[in-house]
Amino acid sequence: MDLPKAIHELEYGHGSAYGPEEEAALSEVLRASAPSCGPKVKKFEEAFAAYCDARYGLAVTSATAGLELAIIAARVGPGDEVITTPISWISTANAAAAQGASVVFADVNPRTLNLDPASVAAKITDRTKAIIVVHLYGQCCDMDPIMNVARERGILVIEDCAHAAGGEYKGRRAGTLGDIGVFSFHQQKNMVTLGEGGMITTARKDLYERMLSFRSLCCLTYDPKGKYLPIDESKQPMGKRYWYLDFDDVGFNFRMTDAQAAIGLEQLKKLDGFNARRIEIANQYCERLRGIHGLTLPYVSPDVKHVFHIYCVLVEPEFRLNKEDFMWEMYTGKRVKVWSHYMPIHLTTAYRRRGHQEGECPVAEALFHKYVSLPIHPRMTEGSIAHVTDSIRELA
Ligand SMILES: *Cc1c(COP(=O)(O)O)cnc(C)c1O
Repeated sequence: MDLPKAIHELEYGHGSAYGPEEEAALSEVLRASAPSCGPKVKKFEEAFAAYCDARYGLAVTSATAGLELAIIAARVGPGDEVITTPISWISTANAAAAQGASVVFADVNPRTLNLDPASVAAKITDRTKAIIVVHLYGQCCDMDPIMNVARERGILVIEDCAHAAGGEYKGRRAGTLGDIGVFSFHQQKNMVTLGEGGMITTARKDLYERMLSFRSLCCLTYDPKGKYLPIDESKQPMGKRYWYLDFDDVGFNFRMTDAQAAIGLEQLKKLDGFNARRIEIANQYCERLRGIHGLTLPYVSPDVKHVFHIYCVLVEPEFRLNKEDFMWEMYTGKRVKVWSHYMPIHLTTAYRRRGHQEGECPVAEALFHKYVSLPIHPRMTEGSIAHVTDSIRELA
């Protein structure tokens, strides 16, 4: 194995994320001229919502776009505060910041690295408009206490489910635990739609309709079934010249294409299988890495089905190497690209510039010196898994 190939295969597995099913689905869409937001998108939205047991699905271009629509549905704007976690991909906080809101970072639970409900409760003020929880690494947050305090205070809860397609909390699927769920189908996520893609779920008609409108530029003449409505002439600012489209607000183009949706329909059928393989790999990691001095393996709450988007270990001070040296030795010495998800958002340059700093979330900041993600992927081979775990044992 030459070096780059070994690293690539560990990160992305062998072969393609797609099979003959996706190829056939894509050919069908090509023969129909591959429209934007056509019948396949509608079908995918319905199938994904049904899978989660959500009332509505709304397909979008990415989870970053979906989070932005969710924040707009929550009517968040300047002067409002949005509470979220520092341990996430930056998109989570950006959704609130982009609408001019203040981002308030709550601290995390040291075992799950998910938002700590007590810290969330402590950071609520009269200005708190929304909470964005992240089901980190594929494990759902402890939602009951968060929903209780949010309901009491009339705060909208958005779930960032980018890691958690198919994940569960107390038997209910991610995306149905708060008011709005947002999923990612980016190429690295648990199911994928041609490199980019996302889905929003909700049970609330008012939120769905607002997001539907903003997904497509708030065009007044576009109805939920994707057809142009008969024009109400009395509402046309330009009288009877109704061949002009009119707009209700300043919206976006976040529409998914039928090509992505056709792939998404096939990937959704495979999602449980992909997740089962991820869980199997995680179990193998746990078995093979158990008992290593100074290495803490992931904690899985009995309340959840963890779908292991990421397998994260903690490199404790007792380990022979510190986190940075461990990562470097794995990469240069063992040809294993480990990662660290993520730099706490409040410590990024973008958020320091907005006035954030060390000390806001002491638990998350301490964890940052420990957490390392090992490669995990449904197409990972037994040889790759053994190579990763043998390498860690050698370094320990
Ligand atoms: C990937 C990711 C996103 C953004 O998803 P995109 O589809 O790439 O925009 C948001 N939040 C988390 C936690 C993610 O991992």
